[in-house]
Amino acid sequence: MNYKQSILAIDDDPMILKLLSVRLRDLKAKVICAEGGEEGLRAAHREEPDLILLDVSMPGMDGFEVCQRLRNDARTRDIPVIFLTGSDDPNQKSRGFELGAMDYVTKPFDACELMARVRSALRQQALVAALEAQATTDSLTGLPNRAAFKRRLNQVFDRARANDTRFMLMFIDLDRFKQVNDSLGHSVGDQLLIAVSDILRRSIRSATNGFRERDSDFVARMGGDEFTVVVENVDDETWALDLADRLRSTLTQQINIDGHQVHVGASIGIRLCDKDDGNPDELMRDSDTAMYHAKAEGKGRCVLFDEQMHHAVAARLDLEQALHLVLDKQELSLAYQPVIDMDQGELRGFEALLRWVHPRLGNLSPDLFVPIAEETGLIIPIGRWCINEAFRQLRRWRNSNDIPEGLHMAVNLSKVQLMNNDLEQVIAEALHVNDLEPKDIHVEVTESTIMHDVERIVPVLDRIRDMGISIAMDDFGTGYSSLASLHRFPVDILKIDRQFVNSMMQSREHAAVVNAIVTLADNLGMTVVAEGVETSDHLLLLQAMGCTYGQGYYFAQPLPNETITNMLKKNSWFGNDLSDAEESLDQSDRLTELI
Ligand code: C2E
Ligand code: CA
Ligand code: CA
Repeated sequence: MNYKQSILAIDDDPMILKLLSVRLRDLKAKVICAEGGEEGLRAAHREEPDLILLDVSMPGMDGFEVCQRLRNDARTRDIPVIFLTGSDDPNQKSRGFELGAMDYVTKPFDACELMARVRSALRQQALVAALEAQATTDSLTGLPNRAAFKRRLNQVFDRARANDTRFMLMFIDLDRFKQVNDSLGHSVGDQLLIAVSDILRRSIRSATNGFRERDSDFVARMGGDEFTVVVENVDDETWALDLADRLRSTLTQQINIDGHQVHVGASIGIRLCDKDDGNPDELMRDSDTAMYHAKAEGKGRCVLFDEQMHHAVAARLDLEQALHLVLDKQELSLAYQPVIDMDQGELRGFEALLRWVHPRLGNLSPDLFVPIAEETGLIIPIGRWCINEAFRQLRRWRNSNDIPEGLHMAVNLSKVQLMNNDLEQVIAEALHVNDLEPKDIHVEVTESTIMHDVERIVPVLDRIRDMGISIAMDDFGTGYSSLASLHRFPVDILKIDRQFVNSMMQSREHAAVVNAIVTLADNLGMTVVAEGVETSDHLLLLQAMGCTYGQGYYFAQPLPNETITNMLKKNSWFGNDLSDAEESLDQSDRLTELI
């Protein structure tokens, strides 16, 4: 035991206190004296001594009451107490033991007996403290571990309640720890964690020093590369955010480990807590949520928790759970949106679009749940279902002679499906089962999907294309790949993103870009499909540019299969007469001016 133990002596008689402190000096312990119960309680709370010597009979608050109060306070609950008593009354002794006294010493003291009892109590306490330290300290960094953190957070929480103060809880997650660990090895990783805990400890001390008592602030390691920091008595939100940001920027600087310049960075979630705020577990969860947002917003930043986030997370969890059951409960369906040959005014095919009719939330957009399905891996079974269902529908329409030969079915593929090994087999089987040919099928992948992992995804697309299936690059124009790199990808069809189509009416530049895409695709032998054709103006302009195919609300929304079947039967499935539009083309000077 290398720290100095401390003993608190509580007695109303100053002479006895004096005597005790002289006697106990030999034990090399720090001795604190308190005259009377009130003062004793205050000292116990402040000093958290290793042992308390407590006089039973004192005026005002007697020793039993002091003991009772010590037991009721989490900070002093476990401190061993030795009663000092002038009486030999066994009733009095048993009452003391019931209150949790460890021992009794009878006044007037026999010096040897007193020393022996105190020594034994301290030894026992040292053992307890050592065991506890082991159980509550992170062995790598020496910081409090998760268990200790939770206990201390409870205390902080109680204090904030009692004193009506606010405190701040930060959840810190390193941004590039895994990369460092993987590339430079575990020993460097360990040293990095030690360095980070030193930085945090130092930063907290220097940031909060000087203007208030801050013994209670602390840093803990939750495991892995996660740390927490608690700072008490925070009444200024700006100050809190500023402190978090200083921590973040300190962790952004290079750290020298064994001659390696390591650059790690951190994302920090912040929870400001006051007495009305939930419970410590909820606070933990909230700071974690805020940290998660900091990561999601691009890492290397501090984010303050607000209730909105909590709702968002709860809603997401809800969706995630429901999504697990979606196939069993048959809540998914496909909507089919016609693809139109704008020159001929004829139907050319369909794009299958996923729909989820949630029992409580109603119709949910795939933009909302496909990302969750991707993250959870559920997109694999869901995607397989889409392929099978879309192919089967095309077969049904063919069988009932509802549609002319040659119409295609397009399905959307997620990057997760493309990275999964069985995709080609799923497609091949669905073709076989439904007696379809590869040329009947298009698969659509967004340009961001291809760019996600060009090395892995392009070969898969190559093989699918070798089967005879056409590949469409979806949402083209929204970013990543440039026109110049298009020829590197196995793409037969370009689908111009609907935002582009939309904005071409507002801006000459956008119109010029769309025009350039159409021309370039033509030169590369690709087919162009304009998405989001919503108005006759869109149609006219696209026709004038030589864009043959289009898709959008102007022709038809994505529709359930029965509706499409009915429209096909009546052969009047698209609501707008294209010849009308063509007539107005000549009159539309404004439009031709745009290109
Ligand atoms: P996307 O592949 O670009 O699909 C076209 C989206 O544009 C569809 O939205 C469609 O309803 C919408 N749309 C069509 N015409 C118009 C129009 O004239 N104006 C406007 N404003 N919108 C129009 P939806 O159905 O909400 O799908 C959103 C996205 O979800 C799709 O974008 C696609 O990326 C993804 N998705 C849909 N189904 C699947 C699927 O089965 N698998 C995968 N992996 N993703 C899918
Ligand atoms: Ca698509
Ligand atoms: Ca699209």
